[in-house]
Amino acid sequence: MSALAASTGAINLGQGFPDVDGPEAIKRAAMAAIEAGHNQYPPGAGIPALRAAVATHQRRHYRLEVDPETEVLITTGATEALAAAVLALAGPGDEVLTLEPFYDSYAAVIALAGAAHTTAPLVRGPAGFRLDPAALRLAFTDRTRIVLLNSPHNPTGTVLTRAELTLIAQLATAHDAIVITDEVYEHLVYDGAEHIPVATLPGMAARTLTISSVGKSFSFTGWKIGWVAGPAALVEAVRTVKQFLTYVSGAPFQPAVATALTDAAASAWVVDLAASLAGRRDLLCAGLERAGFDVIRPQGTYFVVADGAPLGFDDGAELCRRLPELAGVVGVPVSAFTRAGSAADAALRSAVRFTFVKRESVLREAVIRLAELA
Ligand code: PMP
Ligand code: GLN
Repeated sequence: MSALAASTGAINLGQGFPDVDGPEAIKRAAMAAIEAGHNQYPPGAGIPALRAAVATHQRRHYRLEVDPETEVLITTGATEALAAAVLALAGPGDEVLTLEPFYDSYAAVIALAGAAHTTAPLVRGPAGFRLDPAALRLAFTDRTRIVLLNSPHNPTGTVLTRAELTLIAQLATAHDAIVITDEVYEHLVYDGAEHIPVATLPGMAARTLTISSVGKSFSFTGWKIGWVAGPAALVEAVRTVKQFLTYVSGAPFQPAVATALTDAAASAWVVDLAASLAGRRDLLCAGLERAGFDVIRPQGTYFVVADGAPLGFDDGAELCRRLPELAGVVGVPVSAFTRAGSAADAALRSAVRFTFVKRESVLREAVIRLAELA
């Protein structure tokens, strides 16, 4: 869809990346690291300062204690952390259970691991897309090896509640499954919604790998520095795979990300980003509604799902192919995040995901253009 936006001149509200970079001071820290000679292979697990910074971040925000020596691994973005974790811990005969819709890399890495992919749908209700407890129970089997969660959730913007997480925790424990949780949008939550890391639930730290990255929180999606935190034995297994995927990750970015995670001004920057994104979400949601979409307001992430059915489109992919010509805007069909033939796929056929992590002036122009549809 980004290629379509480039070739048509449409406003790209498809792929999720900010059009304003993260804090200047953090950029300068990366440049200073290059100047200071951090240009050769760093340690395989990540530089000590960054592992310590991840531990500090987990303690400060969530009161989670992780040992930077043995319980933190630095990766090439959350993408590598997810891939290495799934490859390390699942194989043929195992099932990996995800929510559906799901971020696209999950299906690919589960397939690479030779494991089976099972899903529990997020179902639309008055409170947005929520977990269906009955469907979740049915999705667990005695072969469920990993539950791969994502909250705040791409593409729906759902922030899982304590009740939802408690049920997941109970079922994961009963089935002796490992939980891998993708929390890259941890700081981008709105309207007082609280991001609750599943590792903070009673007993869950022992079976949970928590993944995040610098990309979303600090608007440096191109830096590709991520991390995984959890029990030493699980982190060691992930490190063994990471060793042969990339070996190490971006030397000069690591000290800069350590600064981002521990610096008070950088933390304040993230709080401001979330506040500004809440306003941009409202702007885009209102514009999509005026254009005739059925909008499901997100509580987190920088995406909104809007249903094109009221506009007469029953196929979101077709709508996305035509949106550049109809309205000069690009979105992503939610079917990119579902499996053909599933219940979630059927329910979301006409849905489109738009991002609001663009400058307000860009969103205002997009909203004007979208009004053409009404
Ligand atoms: N998980 C989710 C849910 C995402 O939206 C993204 C962003 N593309 C990623 C993982 C990947 O993060 P990173 O860029 O750190 O690899
Ligand atoms: N996470 C972003 C998205 O979902 C970008 C990642 C990608 O394009 N693969 O749009």
